[in-house]
Amino acid sequence: MIQDIDLIASVREASNSELIKEKIAALCSVTSSEITSLVLLKRSIDARARLIKVNLRYRVYINEIVPANQPDFIRYSNVATAKPVIIIGAGPAGLFAALSLIEKGLKPILIERGKNVRERRRDLADLNRRQKVNPDSNYCFGEGGAGTYSDGKLYTRSTKKGDVTSILKTFIQFGADAMIAVDAHPHIGTNKLPNIIQNIRNQIIDSGGEIHFNTRMIDFTINENKISEVKTIHTQTSEERNFSGEAVILASGHSARDIFELLHKKQLSIEAKEFAAGVRVEHPQAIIDALQYHCRTNEEVKEARNFLPAAAYSWVEQIDGKGVYSFCMCPGGIIAPCATGPEQVVTNGWSPSKRDNPYANSGIVVTITEDDWKKYNNKGALAALAYQMQLEKISFEAGGKCQIAPAQRLLDFVNGVNSVDLPSCSYQPGIVSAPLHQLLPPEIAKRLQKAFQLIGKKMKGYLTNEAVIVAVESRTSSPVRIPRDKNELNHPQVFNLYPCGEGAGYAGGIVSAAIDGQNCALKIAKKIIR
Ligand SMILES: Cc1cc2nc3c(=O)[nH]c(=O)nc-3n(C[C@H](O)[C@H](O)[C@H](O)COP(=O)(O)OP(=O)(O)OC[C@H]3O[C@@H](n4cnc5c(N)ncnc54)[C@H](O)[C@@H]3O)c2cc1C
Repeated sequence: MIQDIDLIASVREASNSELIKEKIAALCSVTSSEITSLVLLKRSIDARARLIKVNLRYRVYINEIVPANQPDFIRYSNVATAKPVIIIGAGPAGLFAALSLIEKGLKPILIERGKNVRERRRDLADLNRRQKVNPDSNYCFGEGGAGTYSDGKLYTRSTKKGDVTSILKTFIQFGADAMIAVDAHPHIGTNKLPNIIQNIRNQIIDSGGEIHFNTRMIDFTINENKISEVKTIHTQTSEERNFSGEAVILASGHSARDIFELLHKKQLSIEAKEFAAGVRVEHPQAIIDALQYHCRTNEEVKEARNFLPAAAYSWVEQIDGKGVYSFCMCPGGIIAPCATGPEQVVTNGWSPSKRDNPYANSGIVVTITEDDWKKYNNKGALAALAYQMQLEKISFEAGGKCQIAPAQRLLDFVNGVNSVDLPSCSYQPGIVSAPLHQLLPPEIAKRLQKAFQLIGKKMKGYLTNEAVIVAVESRTSSPVRIPRDKNELNHPQVFNLYPCGEGAGYAGGIVSAAIDGQNCALKIAKKIIR
């Protein structure tokens, strides 16, 4: 007999496989020896009450021969001589679009301005240690896109847009831990992502696809409402090269400002889009663990952490008519410098797979709407982008015109007083004390002050000067939307151009970008292969 059983266990019980087996045997009214195998299907932690519970779902094999573990991985055929489709950007949207094109018998040609994952790592070290921002190779640009050196949290609200399970399965096929298909809040970690991305690249190349690194798209030619040629430049040799294909998937991400400007200059329709901006707040992880796991002493925190991962939190509220929320919370993580060009200081966060850094960081951001960017309305569709750029410039100038970021103790920010000193912080280029309550525009600063007070009421101990806020968190999503036909997904003026992923305004994270890449590829395949 094969049975699926739901079980609620204490954290101690959940870590004891023999005990779990006995509990399941009792629930199934059999003896443990009759259970031939247990397969964990789902796992989530419920830390709302002091007694923390783990919800588990197992597939129980009772006196059954367990089927051999044969994962139904996709086999990719060779498409070297198939019709080509050009993809701009090798982020999650571009890579998953490429895999889907191969599945459908089309040849992907990926154009990526950045370097491969290995070479890109050197530029990140330069950014962290020497404050050198390479405009083509940084935390947002390069193989795997913003997803490679991200946190790798794989949960999404985009379940209606596509098949999340198939995305997780693909990550597993290319090297991710199979537990990502089991955990309620799957997470890969910055240290593991580059290998997975490299494996995806190898598959694309082995299947006859092409990937051109250090190759930036600079322009394209339109003939009879279709792109006939994509113009690129090699970022190191300046050699120009043109590519052509049946269709172009534009998956260049939310930081490709030159692409937004190019479309605007070519008078192709784009729209200013709401995004969110604020700060990244960092606490000692032990504070967040104590709050979330209801611990009264350090010993209790240590005991909890023997069985539980570094604690996370999420928060959302309406403040003065606008959404304010936590964004990309990274337990046991690091604050990363995510600038992509001059006169920018930008924060975001990542964590390794073990989430074992002593800090917990999260963006706390305010929704930025039309009334905020109206002073830039002379920029037309680029008005929200201009607002975003201004925030990053404020941060750059307050930090001393380098990658050092302006920062303030959390309670000082809420009380509107300058911080005389700062706690230690994971942000590697360094932080400097600055009056962020005055420097950030009031529509952001005032809402953030109220937000932190509200979070402090909900999580007693959160509002502390042991925490520090670092500015500015501005790349939460794209400030521009590139319109596309609702059903066919192509641009309304350019019939073979497919705006895709986060940069075009159709995704907000790794999984939703990957889903959007798949969706664009499927639409193209349907049109081309009749
Ligand atoms: C530090 C950090 C942590 C994050 N953590 C998480 C997380 O835990 N979970 C999550 O879901 N999301 C996270 N994100 C967000 C996530 O990475 C993005 O949502 C996702 O990568 C978007 O995918 P995309 O393919 O649409 O665009 P991108 O990943 O931005 O990829 C776009 C690609 O296009 C390339 N490109 C740009 N312009 C050109 C051009 N002109 N020519 C050629 N190539 C070009 C870029 O180099 C880039 O590689 C994080 C992001 C960062 C920066």
